[in-house]
Amino acid sequence: MNPVKTRTHQLFAKAKQYIPCGVNSNFRYWGDENTPILTRGAGAYVWDADDNRYIDYRLGFGPIILGHAYPEVTRRVAEAIQNGVLFAATTPIEIELAERFTRMTGMDKVRLSNTGTEANMHALRIARAYTGREKFIKFEGNYHGNFDYVMFSGPTAKAELLGPRNHPHRLRATEGMPVAIRNYMISLPYNDIELLERAMVEHSDELAAVILEPIMGNVACILPDPAWLRRVRELCDEFDIVLIFDEVKTGFRLAPGGAQQYFGVKADLAAYAKAMGNGFPVSAVAGRAEIMAVVEPGRVAHGGTYCGNVVAAAAAAATLEIIETQPVIETIFANGRRLMDGIHTILRQVGAPHVISGVPSMFSVLLGKDEPPTDYRSYAEFDSELFGLFGAELIRRGVLIDDDPREPWFLSFSHDPAVIDESLNLIEDAAKAVFRTAARTRRLAA
Ligand code: PMP
Repeated sequence: MNPVKTRTHQLFAKAKQYIPCGVNSNFRYWGDENTPILTRGAGAYVWDADDNRYIDYRLGFGPIILGHAYPEVTRRVAEAIQNGVLFAATTPIEIELAERFTRMTGMDKVRLSNTGTEANMHALRIARAYTGREKFIKFEGNYHGNFDYVMFSGPTAKAELLGPRNHPHRLRATEGMPVAIRNYMISLPYNDIELLERAMVEHSDELAAVILEPIMGNVACILPDPAWLRRVRELCDEFDIVLIFDEVKTGFRLAPGGAQQYFGVKADLAAYAKAMGNGFPVSAVAGRAEIMAVVEPGRVAHGGTYCGNVVAAAAAAATLEIIETQPVIETIFANGRRLMDGIHTILRQVGAPHVISGVPSMFSVLLGKDEPPTDYRSYAEFDSELFGLFGAELIRRGVLIDDDPREPWFLSFSHDPAVIDESLNLIEDAAKAVFRTAARTRRLAA
């Protein structure tokens, strides 16, 4: 059952010679033994360097909404790049994309970039320029990308160091950034109306924005309390503060209009990336016309050599057309619901306390408790070590999830009922292996 990893280990040893930790993004390092090296993907599957096949529930941290190497997207990109990939000038394809994008999201205006980080960075700058204020509220465990202003108390923070709930510390996520910029940010627990109201009143005339992930896509898909989300919107209106939804994971995945459509709460600005391009690097900041109007030469800088390049624009144009014209999200939700229900039944049968949080297109399996988490602090009460054992059994059997329980399981349009059935059989085997053994060990110890 243990897959052969000879070539993977050889390649990884070489990778480490030239690339720090052998990976091009820290999150991809799973230790010297277990860091995967993948060579290809098709539909719901990926293959590693030893040609072991996995059902992929990582989907590149979420972007692959249609499936790997989705033929129609590949064809449209290949066709477009025959005529060049970059002009640093507006192309017709960007205009077609912007028209569809604004129709689907309900946003008035949109600017393209390449990564979620860039889109959020621009959103924050636009909000600051529009309001003439500098501070912002961010929530514990929310991740908005790899730029300094937002890298405090994110999904890698140690929960026990977060400090008092009513006056949280702002924990730096990385060395190498100026400590003083934490003073621009107010950190709050997610889903807490009372603390939010207090902070808004106290800081209202300094606040440019509230930025949030409308599902905690980097901490176990913790859902927003609908009353809290509505209150965030009301308070932003009351104090003229820009509400930014980070829809990098939720955009075009929860609904064609993202989390805003799904939860029925509208943001002033939103950042999109991931599912927008089915894996091609493309992102966007979008929002109300009045706010986006600050983006102009001599006023608010927005730009980049590769913003709106042909590869990105063609990929997004094709992906969004498919999402808009085919039952992509409904199908993913139906299959995802079956998978969630199936996992729930399996875990109940083996007697494992658990919670499955999130929505069918992105969810998380949490072990050790059966009460849903509401914020980053309550997530920390789950048993991530036990999840690690379960995850290792799944991966060994060919179900590729992230080794970190905070990272969601993602589904694509290519995860059809046959893939779900295959997954559930493997998940049942893995659960029996882990939890029957755990129960036996407990009985022996008792
Ligand atoms: N926001 C959210 C909610 C994300 O999940 C991520 C990436 N996981 C980002 C922003 C940053 O996106 P990127 O990695 O494309 O810069």
